Amino acid sequence: MEPEKLEALPEDWERALCVVAHPDDLEFGAAAAVARWTGQGKDVVYCMVTSGEAGIDAMSPDECRRVREAEQIESARIVGVSQVEFLGQPDGIVEYGVPLRRTIAEVVRRHRPDIVITGNFRDTWGGLNLNQADHIATGRAVVDAVRDAGNRWVFPEQLTDGLEPWGGVRAVWAAGSPQATHAVDTTETFDAGVASLEAHRAYIDGLGWENWDPREFLEGFSRQTGQRLGTALAASFEVFPMGWGE
Ligand SMILES: [Zn+2]
Repeated sequence: MEPEKLEALPEDWERALCVVAHPDDLEFGAAAAVARWTGQGKDVVYCMVTSGEAGIDAMSPDECRRVREAEQIESARIVGVSQVEFLGQPDGIVEYGVPLRRTIAEVVRRHRPDIVITGNFRDTWGGLNLNQADHIATGRAVVDAVRDAGNRWVFPEQLTDGLEPWGGVRAVWAAGSPQATHAVDTTETFDAGVASLEAHRAYIDGLGWENWDPREFLEGFSRQTGQRLGTALAASFEVFPMGWGE
């Protein structure tokens, strides 16, 4: 059976906000797309729900937080992103709920993005590999917070000091979803994507995967996605329209 074709994502927008659970979530595929967009002059901001402080077995959370925040900031810089925010939620036990929606809605209201990007929040990665709880909680909260941000009667206590509701988000794009419908040609920016994953050095070393090569890993699925888009390499996204009538 032919793999299903993917449609190119629109590029007629100016500002994107990426909200993901952990440092490194964007670097497993999406960062090469971010590099393409920043290269086009678009403004992209990163927001990490946690600092990934529970992500390295041999490192205490306090040390790990410092290391991983620094790695994420460097990783972002490589793909043209200069603003990285950390929301300080607890790594590994992020809870979907009103408090998380409130926190993310405030970020959306401050940055007023056209597009919000998050990670895959479906139950699996396709096949039998289960998704992780923080990813699912974060993605669901992101979609809801985008709606909340546009409603002045939801979290109205935030609307002080000139902060206004923001209902201008056109869509939420979930990177790496097994139900992806769209993709971005990353042929020209693939190397930047690899370098941005390699910037998570302490994390990758901590995984202890012997002979694991970030380039080879990213190339494998980028080629498969590229075949479905009609390009050499690509990154896939599932699209959740946020307007009506789509
Ligand atoms: Zn993650």
